[in-house]
Amino acid sequence: MSTESTVDAFGLAGAFRVDGRVAVVTGAGSGIGRASAEALAGAGAHVVCADVVASSAEATAEGITAAGGSAEVVGLDVADRHAVERTAAGTVERHGSLDIWCNIAGIMVEGPMVDTAEEDLDRILAVNLKGVYFGCQSAARAMVAQGRGSIVNASSAAADAPSPGISAYAACKAAVVQMTRSLAVEVGRAGVRANAVAPGFVLTGMTGRYFVRPDGTVDEAMRDAVVEPLRRHAPLRRIGEVEDIAAAVLYLASDASSFVTGQVIRPNGGVAMV
Ligand code: NAP
Repeated sequence: MSTESTVDAFGLAGAFRVDGRVAVVTGAGSGIGRASAEALAGAGAHVVCADVVASSAEATAEGITAAGGSAEVVGLDVADRHAVERTAAGTVERHGSLDIWCNIAGIMVEGPMVDTAEEDLDRILAVNLKGVYFGCQSAARAMVAQGRGSIVNASSAAADAPSPGISAYAACKAAVVQMTRSLAVEVGRAGVRANAVAPGFVLTGMTGRYFVRPDGTVDEAMRDAVVEPLRRHAPLRRIGEVEDIAAAVLYLASDASSFVTGQVIRPNGGVAMV
């Protein structure tokens, strides 16, 4: 008797596939954006890898195509509204549709709230808030016109559980949650969904700044000093991996989440339960 079950009453095994769909991922050159681009390509999408550093997006796209997937590169500063609009319109022009748009690009500004300079505040608002807003606008225009689509925005556990020194970042990530909900109520009737992921701590270029030296080497004692308390504090006793977050992005992008909109998925090891 075979031990392999062939029961798939609801077709759920295929619901995570995004074959033939066209996806744009911002911040695709590194960390969670790169992993999300790889996950979407692995599930069958053609992925437009967009990043402010075109060479890093190129590396992501090369990795995808070398593994048999389909990808292309766009150099994109998400803070540039016209460039975001061109990316969305160009994608539709080249491929005939825009099915998935993931606003993953983000930056960090650190320091006590009372000391945060206005130019630093403007810089993070431009990328983490306006950049996501522009992405939502451009993607939603194309998706409403075609009557389907899924938008996935990167929020953060920082929006749920503030920690000191990242007030501007946390404010942007809370704003991402609210703009996701607002968009969801506006575009749902057109068949377009908008959701957010709010990851806990994941080792990436963004978080590596605590222990990666300017020459690229890792200060392991410093890394342990950062990671160990987080690990101990988390109910699951670990920090996140980029693939933990990419799995949530794929779920929200695919038909597996077809009845889900305006929601925040929290792959955070249990550090914040909202
Ligand atoms: P990352 O490794 O630094 O990746 C972010 C990517 O976005 C980088 O390739 C970066 O380019 C790019 N980028 C920065 N500014 C951009 C702009 N103006 N336009 C287009 N691309 C831009 O960071 P990550 O940890 O993967 O973060 C991805 C997202 O997850 C962010 O929104 C972050 O806030 C969120 N998040 C991360 C964590 C975590 O623990 N890592 C937790 C919660 C939420 P550069 O090479 O120039 O930096």
